[in-house]
Amino acid sequence: MTSTYAGIRENRPDTDTFLHLGGTSCDLADKFEKRCLQVADRTFSQGQQCQQINSLATFLTMEDSVLIVHSPQGCAGCVTAANDGYRVGQIHRGIRNPQNAHIIISNLDEQDVILGGEEKLRESIQIAIERHHPKVVFLFASCASGIIGDDIDAVAASEQTADGPVIIPIHCEGFKSNIPGSGFDVAFIALNKYLLKGEQLPTQKGLINLFAPVSISFADQYEMQRVLSDIGLSVNYIPFFSSYEKLRSIPAAEASTAICKVFGDEFMKTLYTDYGVPYAHTVMPIGLRNTDLWFKGIADLVGKGKEADAYIKRERERVLPKIEGIRRRLEGKRVFVCGGTGRSFAAAALIDDFGMKLVGLQTPTYDEDAQFDIRHLTSIHGDFLVDVANMQPYEQVNLVKRLKPDVFIGVPEWTARLGIPTTHVLDVKRPTMGYNGLLYLGEKIAEQIENPGFNVKLSRYANLPYKESWYGKDPFKFIKQQEPDDTALVREVVLT
Ligand code: SF4
Repeated sequence: MTSTYAGIRENRPDTDTFLHLGGTSCDLADKFEKRCLQVADRTFSQGQQCQQINSLATFLTMEDSVLIVHSPQGCAGCVTAANDGYRVGQIHRGIRNPQNAHIIISNLDEQDVILGGEEKLRESIQIAIERHHPKVVFLFASCASGIIGDDIDAVAASEQTADGPVIIPIHCEGFKSNIPGSGFDVAFIALNKYLLKGEQLPTQKGLINLFAPVSISFADQYEMQRVLSDIGLSVNYIPFFSSYEKLRSIPAAEASTAICKVFGDEFMKTLYTDYGVPYAHTVMPIGLRNTDLWFKGIADLVGKGKEADAYIKRERERVLPKIEGIRRRLEGKRVFVCGGTGRSFAAAALIDDFGMKLVGLQTPTYDEDAQFDIRHLTSIHGDFLVDVANMQPYEQVNLVKRLKPDVFIGVPEWTARLGIPTTHVLDVKRPTMGYNGLLYLGEKIAEQIENPGFNVKLSRYANLPYKESWYGKDPFKFIKQQEPDDTALVREVVLT
């Protein structure tokens, strides 16, 4: 295996990645182009997503696996949201009695932090095997296990038996990266190292690896499979609702593509390098333009471009009159979009289908990919405000209150309390993607704008925790550029 990428996104050699920025789209894009964007940090931070949850979510829905989180209890707390999506996903797939994901937490405590927690990890592996008889056991590191130096690789190797499950250690210690997408990368790096192991398989003509995160609804899976099967392609849907056998067959695919821009993108490069499987890395298939681009990307790669063109023409003829109807309800509405790297840009492009105007965008990272999207969006919407932030709701509500959009598209818990209509594109239960998802999403946005009553009432009774004076201050007040002297000091320390 030839891959050398360590799974820390901010350290990728081929792109500059910025995590703390605020400004107008034109200004940021110009500075990025001239390579004069300054590295900055936040002197105050309110919540930040950890990469471990993304590593967990990568394999959460595997039908024959157990996930062991080697951490104190709290680390896996927010996995309950993904588990909820998993349960609903089972019901949508016809399973009448949905199961919880098989997750065991080793529960490191104060004593383990001093004396070491490897015994607890061994015990957890034994419990996992006796209780669930899995084919794969994933071990997830945490900040605590990393800091105390528990060797999860050595534990995995010593517990591995010839006839037992494959034990895969994953190095997703939260402190290693500030980019949550790194959690996906370290999970796939471990999968390649411990399960695929560089073994070549004969290529199955027409088989496509479709990489999809846990946040994709069954309706979206069905829609993307429908689109691909229409031109004679079959789908290995990875790793969502997947299995040991499906993972093993990844190198046999004719090509790969991903539904999300930051899920599986680095792994697809590895699959090309190690197994010769080509890939299409384009956009998230949300909205007309993006769905066309996504579909053409994979179709062209496997020589089905003409069939794809014909299909796109038929689908456009089918959905355009319906889009026109929705457009009449939404045209001219001002929108603030917030989401992960893939969804925020896809949603911002989608609103153009309905004639809406982008006034603000919050996204976790700014890199070469983001630059391309920002330029595209600016050409449609003109200048708009950009907040590059992993979470940071205090900045979000300040911006939204200033910009006064007609609708907020994104995770709505905070801005809903401002009383403005909200909806989101991170929907594990309803359609979002492809041609049918576009219609559903358009209807959903229009209904929210036409029926804002719930959020209006919410704003009367559920206050946000900020003082009124905060809304009069610069929303980017806490983003501080790194002083040149700081850089010199860091260099000096590193060199001595
Ligand atoms: S791994 Fe670290 S950053 Fe992630 S939840 Fe645990 S303590 Fe927090």
